[in-house]
Amino acid sequence: MRDVILHLHGNNELMQINECHPAYLPLHYVLLFPHEYSTILRAGKLFQEFLVDAWAATEQNRLTYYKLNQGKIRAELYQNLTDIDPNDLQPNQIGQRFVLPSSFVGGPRDMFEIFQDSMAITRYNQHPDIFLTMTANPNWPEITSALLLHQKPIDRPDLIARVFELKRKCLMKEIETNRVFGNKVAHVFAIEFQKRGLPHMHALLFLKGPDKIRTCAQVDKLVCAEFPDPKDEPMLFETIKCCMVHGPCGARNPQAPCMENGKCTKRYPRAFAETTTMYQDGYPIYRRRNNGQAHIVRGKEVDNRDIVLYNAYLSKRFNCHINVEVCAGMRCVKYIHKYIYKGYDRTTMVLGLINEIQQYLDTRYVGPPEAAWRIFGYPLHAEIPTVVRLALHLPGMHRVLFNPDESLETIVSRAGQQMSTLTGFFCMLRFYGR
Ligand SMILES: [Zn+2]
Repeated sequence: MRDVILHLHGNNELMQINECHPAYLPLHYVLLFPHEYSTILRAGKLFQEFLVDAWAATEQNRLTYYKLNQGKIRAELYQNLTDIDPNDLQPNQIGQRFVLPSSFVGGPRDMFEIFQDSMAITRYNQHPDIFLTMTANPNWPEITSALLLHQKPIDRPDLIARVFELKRKCLMKEIETNRVFGNKVAHVFAIEFQKRGLPHMHALLFLKGPDKIRTCAQVDKLVCAEFPDPKDEPMLFETIKCCMVHGPCGARNPQAPCMENGKCTKRYPRAFAETTTMYQDGYPIYRRRNNGQAHIVRGKEVDNRDIVLYNAYLSKRFNCHINVEVCAGMRCVKYIHKYIYKGYDRTTMVLGLINEIQQYLDTRYVGPPEAAWRIFGYPLHAEIPTVVRLALHLPGMHRVLFNPDESLETIVSRAGQQMSTLTGFFCMLRFYGR
């Protein structure tokens, strides 16, 4: 909770107000809310601060609800066997803990649940086939043409968020309808924000049985690790040169951020390879021919050994960083899952600490791009097809809803017709005769 003090004119008293008080934002950001001319989008760094402040107040408001309704939340948790932790059952702990339930978006329990949903999708579909990362390009014409006078893309996290969400949707639609990688049966994605950085999406795509990637020829068709021909593909060449060259690092630039103990942590530059090779562990070695293509990128000479994997069609279509990798085996699954659901930029998060709400706030970092994204209500993740968690319970022990003002007779008769997700599932199986 922040300490906001108001001092009224002609009155010596100080008044403490909540950050959700309607007077807080207009009084704190007087420059953003004048009577006539609109300054809000022209305020540069102040606009960024405003976004973060507005989102922090929104989230704080939601957290306050959980704080004030702990009795109710705990009662619900105790009846929900899936969420019971042995520590919860110690009577001396009742009334002391602050629980942040899974209905709080982005909280640790929510993250854990969607991670499990994603693993359920993986179990059903054997393993993901494509691991894709897309990052916003601040120089997309849709962004630059909408900037106001003297503005740079960084001044407008709102614009970056809006355009990225449109492009992201368009990319998923392309993959779905144009079958860029074949027939897709399932996908999961998570949106992430680097500190002060651009939004990006990590996605896992699952292909239908016959389209699963098994051969080197399939890999070569979908994923490329070489410069395109600058004469045949001038547009694609520019995108690759600008967005898909790693570093340069190594001996050419020992100070590059990816360098640790004299080595690139991302293992660049890779070795040249005449052909693609598939290995059992699921990570292919991609074709990077030594074909004489060498270009100057960020002041250093680079060649095919520095190229980040991409799909030619998608790179050409979207003109931004889209990293596409094949996962042909199980080994990479858990690593990738943990990577994409690691939570929104926070340090270690331990469940079951005495005050989960405070713990959440203490480790939370929100930058302007993420604040804009959250204020607009854009998705942070998706798991398709939908996974429904069944509420496990003993016969007759499922939760029912009732209005305490009604007569007991009415309550009992109505409750008798209410089904839980588990009894509903059994009912469906009976209906289909399984
Ligand atoms: Zn590197």
